[in-house]
Amino acid sequence: MSIQHNLAEIHQQITYHCQQADRTLGSVKLLAVSKTKPFSAIAEAVAAGQTAFGENYVQEGVEKIQYFQSQNIPLEWHFIGPLQSNKSRLVAEHFDWIETVDRLKIAERLSQQRPTALAPLNVLIQINISNESSKSGIMPNALLPLATQIAALPNLRLRGLMAIAQDSDDPSVQQQAFSRMQQLFQQLRLALPEQQIDTLSLGMSGDMAMAIKCGSTQVRIGSAIFGARS
Ligand SMILES: *Cc1c(COP(=O)(O)O)cnc(C)c1O
Repeated sequence: MSIQHNLAEIHQQITYHCQQADRTLGSVKLLAVSKTKPFSAIAEAVAAGQTAFGENYVQEGVEKIQYFQSQNIPLEWHFIGPLQSNKSRLVAEHFDWIETVDRLKIAERLSQQRPTALAPLNVLIQINISNESSKSGIMPNALLPLATQIAALPNLRLRGLMAIAQDSDDPSVQQQAFSRMQQLFQQLRLALPEQQIDTLSLGMSGDMAMAIKCGSTQVRIGSAIFGARS
């Protein structure tokens, strides 16, 4: 199937799940996860109207960002992989969003390194919602202290939360994790009312329905758009 076809299918699914959950159409954004995929695949998605892309590897992401900038194609780029301190400058200088902030030190570096000529870097704090040692992200009880400190950094804009749920086909396992995220998101909004907290990044190809039911405002979809990664 073509990328164009896949994108249309996913938009239909998002619409369907919004209707099922009694949510406003258009309240869930689609982030196309293009890691390991070539420029040509991204260009096909762009031709089909997709404008927001997620990348996991810094160097690969920067090459793609620079390529599309050189073509005068404005896109929105989200960094969604684990970030090492020594790569933070590249993220600060090139991306629009980072969804995986999980410690103050990296947030401080990103704020210092963000060029002031650019808009503030949009930040999501990653929560380790299923408490898996293999996943990054903070424990839920560490959220408010970290969020308060990040909100005070000048060149960042705290926008919300991100999580990767434990891989499970069991709806009750998915629901438990995602409902907890929805609660945390509400707590964050109440705790920092002056911040523009509007983004809850939850849901991938396998758990998108439950994520939307639990208030996700952004699903991150890779293989269902671009095909399996080799
Ligand atoms: C790879 C990745 C995705 C997309 O996963 P698919 O299973 O290909 O849809 C979403 N979020 C994160 C953080 C990822 O690393």
